[in-house]
Amino acid sequence: MENKTSFYSTIAMEIWEYAEMGFLEENSAGLLQKTLKDEGFTIKSGVAGIPTAFVAEYGSGSPVIAILGEYDALPGLSQMAVPEKTTAGKAAGHGCGHHLFGTASTAAAIATKNWMKSKNIKGTIRFYGCPAEEGGSGKVYMVREGLFNDVDVALHWHPGATNGADVGASLANKSAKFRFYGISAHAAAAPDKGRSALDGVEAMNVMVNMMREHIPEKARIHYVITDGGKAPNVVPDYAEVYYYARHNYSDVVMDIFDRIVDAAEGAAKGTGTTMEFEVLGGVHELLPNQVLQEQMYQNLVRVGGYNYTDDEKVFADKIALTLGLESANLNTISTIQPYQAEGKAFGSTDVGDVSFAVPTVGMRAATWVPGTPAHSWQAVAAGGTSIGEKGMMIAAKTLALTAVDLFQNEDLLMQAKAEFLERRGDNFIYTPLLGDRPPALDYRK
Ligand SMILES: [Zn+2]
Repeated sequence: MENKTSFYSTIAMEIWEYAEMGFLEENSAGLLQKTLKDEGFTIKSGVAGIPTAFVAEYGSGSPVIAILGEYDALPGLSQMAVPEKTTAGKAAGHGCGHHLFGTASTAAAIATKNWMKSKNIKGTIRFYGCPAEEGGSGKVYMVREGLFNDVDVALHWHPGATNGADVGASLANKSAKFRFYGISAHAAAAPDKGRSALDGVEAMNVMVNMMREHIPEKARIHYVITDGGKAPNVVPDYAEVYYYARHNYSDVVMDIFDRIVDAAEGAAKGTGTTMEFEVLGGVHELLPNQVLQEQMYQNLVRVGGYNYTDDEKVFADKIALTLGLESANLNTISTIQPYQAEGKAFGSTDVGDVSFAVPTVGMRAATWVPGTPAHSWQAVAAGGTSIGEKGMMIAAKTLALTAVDLFQNEDLLMQAKAEFLERRGDNFIYTPLLGDRPPALDYRK
């Protein structure tokens, strides 16, 4: 794969330049589809009712090994590949490194295909082109559609500031926009004729903030008022608030969410407004798989870390200064973090729903300067340089090695499946948190 670095770097940098947001990733998805098609993969595009979702497949029969790829960018994070905050003048930027995510996963699928071909291996390697991870829950629609039903194992990774393959954890999350409708009126001359939609939003927020004391610990509720009216002298007839509810378990999230809806209904009643809400996202927590995780970790150790060139060191030290660090800790780039059998959940990912459909395992590679948080301009900047490319190739190799293991080692597959079934429980029935709504294709418009 080493000799392919520049080939895949070119693809990743093109996607970095496109910087397309969730469900709008036409060029990014198109480029990955073309790359896979040129390598003999069969492409099904526009799956699950999403124009930028696709499945690329090579081979036939079982086992079926899936590699997930993402490619959406984040609004408001346009940034040049330089070590100071400088906008590239675009609507979005790759602050989560998904240009590298999609490309490395493509590289791993192609490398696995080449190995299968040369060794005459039976089975199927698939690449899942997964749009709109950032708040769009793209994979949930793909799981709901049954696209993973015949998959044996799904592999994924994520860009980061260190190299690691710990047991993953993430929070279940349900999000919605609550829209209040009132009656506008002159705020001084005829306030009695008006009913404020903003009052509805504020009353709802007060109730939800009181509720925080009476929900399970570790739950998280966040909101932003996305529309609070336009002028103080007009009673607003429209207001909107955007909510997230998160917890380690999806059933807790569903319960909290229902209580948030109750608060919204009460607020509407009390303020003489009307309310409707739209669920925009909903993801399960990650179901870990220790058997697969240990295998992935061994492969990552085999691949190893990398070192910066002198130019990369200069770049990294400049970024480190903006992060309040004296210099970049190069040790975290060249080494692999010790294995952790228990993950801590901070964010949420729609990989969670895949992990309840099939045994799923992931890793992370250092594509950013040590100390860089995700969703920052520093992440966009490093992701646009050779630092991002080097991290990406570590992920590509580790995923490919793990896929090869899974095709060769039937025991490993069986153990992974047994652990999966045990963790998921006997009476598990998949319920998507976002219900039966069609894909929210315009959530970024
Ligand atoms: Zn991400």
